[in-house]
Amino acid sequence: MSDCIFCRIAAGEIPAKKLYEDEHVLAFHDINPLAPVHFLVIPKLHVPSMAELGPEHIEVMGRVMTTAAQLARENGCGEGFRTIINTGRVGRQEVYHLHVHVLGGPDVLPAML
Ligand code: ADP
Repeated sequence: MSDCIFCRIAAGEIPAKKLYEDEHVLAFHDINPLAPVHFLVIPKLHVPSMAELGPEHIEVMGRVMTTAAQLARENGCGEGFRTIINTGRVGRQEVYHLHVHVLGGPDVLPAML
């Protein structure tokens, strides 16, 4: 069993409010939302952080980013939203499975991750 919480969510071992799922990508609501819309998009493949990305991840990260855009449009963020990727200790990353935060809605500006 993986000790990565997002791998466990992807495996269905820990519940999450899923927005979208396919073979390669999962999106789910952040458990501690910092804006009216706040969800995370992850590759199902375990990549600890953005710092580990290489050419072999180009396709899956394209899927992650296009999924983030599609879900933002579908969840009322057509006029704009913030995407945040925290990387490493210096980047204040808490969960070491690469994830894209998508934040939107009228109160999005005060949210500082
Ligand atoms: P930070 O906490 O500084 O934003 P990260 O970028 O690593 O660091 O973000 C991890 C995010 O994962 C946090 O916003 C947190 O609320 C969220 N999170 C942690 N556990 C869960 C979970 N079980 N389900 C949904 N979101 C989670």
